[in-house]
Amino acid sequence: MNRRTFLKTMGIGSGILLGAGPRIIHAGEPLPDAATVLVDTTRCIGCRLCEEACAQANSLPAPDLSDLTVFDRKRSTSEAALTVVNRYTIEDAEIHVKTQCMHCSDAACVSSCLVNALKKEKEGPISWHTNCMGCRYCMVACPFDGPKFEYHSAAPRILKCTFCYATRLVKGQKPACVEACPMEALSFGTRSEMLQEARSRIANAPDAYVSHIYGEHEVGGTSWIYLSPVPFDRIGFRTDLGTTPYPVLTKGYLKTVHGIDLIVPPLLFGLAYLSRRKHDKDKD
Ligand code: SF4
Ligand code: SF4
Ligand code: SF4
Repeated sequence: MNRRTFLKTMGIGSGILLGAGPRIIHAGEPLPDAATVLVDTTRCIGCRLCEEACAQANSLPAPDLSDLTVFDRKRSTSEAALTVVNRYTIEDAEIHVKTQCMHCSDAACVSSCLVNALKKEKEGPISWHTNCMGCRYCMVACPFDGPKFEYHSAAPRILKCTFCYATRLVKGQKPACVEACPMEALSFGTRSEMLQEARSRIANAPDAYVSHIYGEHEVGGTSWIYLSPVPFDRIGFRTDLGTTPYPVLTKGYLKTVHGIDLIVPPLLFGLAYLSRRKHDKDKD
């Protein structure tokens, strides 16, 4: 995105939402000991036991694992399913990809929240809290379509993968989906351990993987990182996001502007809008 386009973005966002006033929170560089999951798509068989474990862990409706029509289309997560597995057929090979909130190291959703209802925990996960006022800025700011809103609830929440933070991680347990995976397609550890593991798998089997760890650098780094046998844009990943965290990108343009706290959410909104529009155009 060039400077002119970005300034246009600022105009779009500010015009729509000027007046909102968040506190700006930047998590900075990814921490080497942040909780991290490595998803190895070469190992995933699409059994969806991770979906089932996630639903159970979050008291959500159990998915019907016998329904194979779910693979007929690309699914997104929802307020009823915090993780979903999609299937891509690439040159006769089936590749399955589990998706959920990526738990960005410096997250657009956290920076866009007016009341700090989305919080970066010290161990790395991004948690939602009940002081949320339902503005849904986080939904438009997120480049990964992570947060979902309970539109049909009398007391709606923002729902997304919790990283099983409060229910399992703080007790020293792995996320429920990681524990349920029968193929060890999901590995849990610190960021430095998982990056080392990913590099070692690529080095030991260079023909089995592309030499790219998705999430090592994208949007400044994410806490869910991926390995793939094919370029990531072929299995549904956005490769147009750059390596700068969204909150830093907006702040970089505006560090001299008085009252920056007032306009960051509109900027994130505009950035996400333009980025998504470009992504949709590229897909057409
Ligand atoms: S993927 Fe979206 S919802 Fe999840 S941490 Fe990143 S910006 Fe927030
Ligand atoms: S970490 Fe927990 S909430 Fe997130 S996808 Fe896995 S089971 Fe679901
Ligand atoms: S449980 Fe493991 S193998 Fe099964 S779909 Fe989920 S990530 Fe893939």
